[in-house]
Amino acid sequence: MFAAVIVGVNSKDVNRLFDYKIPDHLAGVIQVGHRVFVPFGPRHVQAYVMEIHDTSDVPASKVREIVKVMDVEPVLTGELIHLSKKLADYYIEPYISVIETILPVALKTKSKKVLVLADDASSEAKFLYESYAQNSEIETKNLSTKSLAELMPYIQAGDIYEDILIKQHTRQKLQKGVQSLYVNKAPLERAPKQYEALQLIEDSSEPMLLQTLKSEGYSEAIVRELEKKGYVRKLDMVVERDPYESRVFEADYKKELTEEQADAYTNINQALLAKSNETFLLHGITGSGKTEVYLQLIQTALDNGREAIMLVPEIALTPQMVNRFKARFGDDVAVLHSALSHGEKYDEWLKIQNGRARVSVGARSSVFAPFKNIGLIIIDEEHETTYKQSERPMYHAAEAAKLRAEYHGCPVVLGSATPSLESYARSSRDVYKRFELTHRPAMQEMPKAEIVDMSDEHKDGNSGILSRQLETAIHERIKKGEQTVLLLNRRGFANFQICQNCGHVPNCPNCDISLTYHKNNNSLLCHYCSYEEQVTKKCADCGSTDVTFRGTGTQKVEEILRDTFNVDIIRMDVDTTKRKGAHEQLLSRFETEKAPILLGTQMIAKGLDYPNVTLVGVLNADTMLNLPDFRANERTFQLLTQVAGRAGRHELPGQIIFQTYNPEHYAITLATDGSYTEFYEKEMQFRKFARYSPYYFHILFTVSAERIKDCLEATTDIHKTLVDNVSDSSIIIGPSPSPIERIKNKNRFQILLKYKREPALQNVLNALDEKYTQIYKKTGLSLKIDVDPQYI
Ligand code: ADP
Ligand code: ZN
Ligand code: ZN
Repeated sequence: MFAAVIVGVNSKDVNRLFDYKIPDHLAGVIQVGHRVFVPFGPRHVQAYVMEIHDTSDVPASKVREIVKVMDVEPVLTGELIHLSKKLADYYIEPYISVIETILPVALKTKSKKVLVLADDASSEAKFLYESYAQNSEIETKNLSTKSLAELMPYIQAGDIYEDILIKQHTRQKLQKGVQSLYVNKAPLERAPKQYEALQLIEDSSEPMLLQTLKSEGYSEAIVRELEKKGYVRKLDMVVERDPYESRVFEADYKKELTEEQADAYTNINQALLAKSNETFLLHGITGSGKTEVYLQLIQTALDNGREAIMLVPEIALTPQMVNRFKARFGDDVAVLHSALSHGEKYDEWLKIQNGRARVSVGARSSVFAPFKNIGLIIIDEEHETTYKQSERPMYHAAEAAKLRAEYHGCPVVLGSATPSLESYARSSRDVYKRFELTHRPAMQEMPKAEIVDMSDEHKDGNSGILSRQLETAIHERIKKGEQTVLLLNRRGFANFQICQNCGHVPNCPNCDISLTYHKNNNSLLCHYCSYEEQVTKKCADCGSTDVTFRGTGTQKVEEILRDTFNVDIIRMDVDTTKRKGAHEQLLSRFETEKAPILLGTQMIAKGLDYPNVTLVGVLNADTMLNLPDFRANERTFQLLTQVAGRAGRHELPGQIIFQTYNPEHYAITLATDGSYTEFYEKEMQFRKFARYSPYYFHILFTVSAERIKDCLEATTDIHKTLVDNVSDSSIIIGPSPSPIERIKNKNRFQILLKYKREPALQNVLNALDEKYTQIYKKTGLSLKIDVDPQYI
């Protein structure tokens, strides 16, 4: 028997199947989807079994053997293998890069350099080897150079990987400990005690734990004997920790649906029961009960013996969502998010894999939850950019969801108060079926936001960051004991140093971007390459000491607020939420201690639901409008609508204030009362006129190299390839410098391809990718191909 594997080496050069012989003692054990160890060149590497065959085209003398199998159960199902191929093709990626994205990081083994005895080692070598180590491997770092030199002629050096289960979960780290388990291999005839033990192992429907065997009166010696004879294999298995173990969730009961909710529910439910893979768009204002619809649909999926995946943009930001799911479905819920450690994530993943959790709630990568019978996939806040991975593989969770839905025969539900233009356009053409939720069943209707023109404030002599209107409103809340949420929009807005004499702004020496001022360590920092320098208070250009700081960071705003109102303020930004769990702690402080003001960046815009919040203020509603990105209007509208939804959600009426220098801009005026369809129509005109998505698909090619000349040469070449291969209806823009022209000392140039239909495009992209992979190896010039980019 032969296994065709993908090796765990992330390189286009090995992006194909390699055949290995399955050794006799592993025949029948190794299945498709197993992780195995294989010799690869001079090393041993982790690999994934994609296919199993009786024969191989590789000459018998050339086929090497699989060294070992790493899991009891295969980690990839046939479906996930298929999915990884589809996504790899679509996003022009090596298969392994997608496979390793699908699996939890904990399953990716790290190598360490070790020395192993060669098969044909001389007796002298063996003697030397054994004098250095009793076990079969010696870590090279434990040897002196002299010893190493002495050994090297006799033995092989290789990268050996540690078994991940042992490595990731060292005993100290585990709360509940690692237990050994045994898997049987074949029956045994003589030695009755061993025979009995083996029978027990065989009869057990699950892998047998060593301690269970011991408690039945079989000693470890018996087990060792069985192992030596090759009848059983010993593996380390992890007993999971539950990060939510110590929390108590109030039970939550299902609500009687409103007419609008019921309409959506009934239709989606029909698709679920009919095993149809339709995509639905649930367009509902904040608080309109989208989540309640999700919860009830998931219940039906479970009742029908199926599983459900619920995606949220960033779960650490929405603890309330987790609470609701845990409250409704209890231990059936696995939670996957970036704030968990690798080990914790792996544990949650295991719960899903072995069927103990049937609902997953998590961020982007949990779309790959290893369920075997999915009944429903939900993507909440589907417009959020976090659903597209910004590093390779640059996949979008919705793409993966639709592929999985096709396989499982299940509906996909995209939910949002402000759908992406792409999704809404599809729903208008009936590609997606759309349902609208226009009312709030349990809360006040949305108040209309007020717009304050900050230029008027300045004209009237108020040069502060708070308009008089917002200041008065905050004072009122403080007096009444109600709470205020303030958003400082950080994208496109930073705190920098400027010389009042010559206007010089310190830039990063490696990147084309101004350095951001950080007050707590009095330094200037580059957010792209982490370059840092101390503030000198002297202009590097003209030597003047008349330097000052512009732009207002959250720290500065916090100070101003404290001076103005003299109350407790909770600040949430990247600095205050770095520590694990900090986010949740700050929010729970806001809730329980009723701090009068919560000041934060974008991360406070989502999901918060506190009855006592009656005022929401946006300090700078327009900073995002200036970003060099065709989606700037859309993102502004989405953010403002989102944050406005935080006010007056319960009995108390809410008030919302947007401060802006662009009081007439439609992305702002239409957000005051969440006029989504009006915004959609206006923005679509612009997209049509400027020939952008959703009228066109985009592919962004970014080349980066040390020399501008090389960038230009490469982009000119790519330009030519595109001109020669795409139809006249496509548009090629560039080569032009990227919005950030230099990052980490590399210049960046880009080409944007806009197209409607290019059936042969994939081949063109593959060819370009292959060509530039080779060029990269020789010169270091790199090409990044972003299919359906989020930022252009
Ligand atoms: P969304 O997800 O659209 O923001 P939620 O599902 O969170 O809305 O609903 C907002 C609030 O309304 C929640 O407190 C929820 O429990 C309540 N709710 C939702 N649907 C109903 C209903 N049909 N009857 C009563 N209350 C409801
Ligand atoms: Zn100067
Ligand atoms: Zn930099």
